[in-house]
Amino acid sequence: MSQIEFKNVTKEYIPGNKVLDDVSFSIEKGEFIFIIGPSGAGKSTIIKLLTREEKPEEGQVVFNNQDISNIKPEEMPEFRRKIGVVYQDYKLLNSKTVYDNVAVSLEVVDADEQEIKSVVPNVLSLVGLLDHSSYYPQELSGGEKQRVAIARALAHEPDVLIADEATGMIDPDVSDEIVELLEKINSLGTTVIMATHDQRIVDKLTKRVIKIQKGKLVSDKKGGKYRA
Ligand code: ADP
Repeated sequence: MSQIEFKNVTKEYIPGNKVLDDVSFSIEKGEFIFIIGPSGAGKSTIIKLLTREEKPEEGQVVFNNQDISNIKPEEMPEFRRKIGVVYQDYKLLNSKTVYDNVAVSLEVVDADEQEIKSVVPNVLSLVGLLDHSSYYPQELSGGEKQRVAIARALAHEPDVLIADEATGMIDPDVSDEIVELLEKINSLGTTVIMATHDQRIVDKLTKRVIKIQKGKLVSDKKGGKYRA
């Protein structure tokens, strides 16, 4: 059983306009996979279908053997905790410290104080920012902000970590560090899905690469020097 399966998924935001057209692929637990394609290809839509912010018009998105279109509202919080997402613009709370940015994600699910005190330093240590716990986002570099966002996404020990253009606003050198961090997280057992239009990042690694073009899956193979 694959952890994630897209089965003949078609998505239309506007009736008749397919932004994903009959897309099928599966992802095994513990994989590190890139989703690459030009801007507008449909990468973010794939991620929104995975997090169930959107539902497909046709086909199924299956997570841990469940068609996620069928998840009931009361089951959504548990589902959401299994999938951590980091975005290009970090989405940090500027009025809160690094520590509190991570703690808030646990407070909203009523984690007890003891758990928060153990989990937050743990994930900040994992991303190399424990010594920045009392900093505010505006005191951090772009790469550091993204590390905080990654720490926050990891606080719930998700099965899957999704990075949507997570290096889009960061210099190449720092982008490489973020990708290294994602590899480290992956090596600890979390499935990592990274959507990017940055061919350079993909070329540097020998990971599986799914290429999306105009809503169609045009290639699915192990990278290295990947060319369309
Ligand atoms: P990518 O992430 O690869 O840049 P997206 O998944 O964001 O691509 O977008 C794919 C296509 O769907 C684009 O043509 C985009 O304009 C369109 N699209 C995305 N979101 C919406 C929406 N909420 N309503 C209508 N069209 C949308």
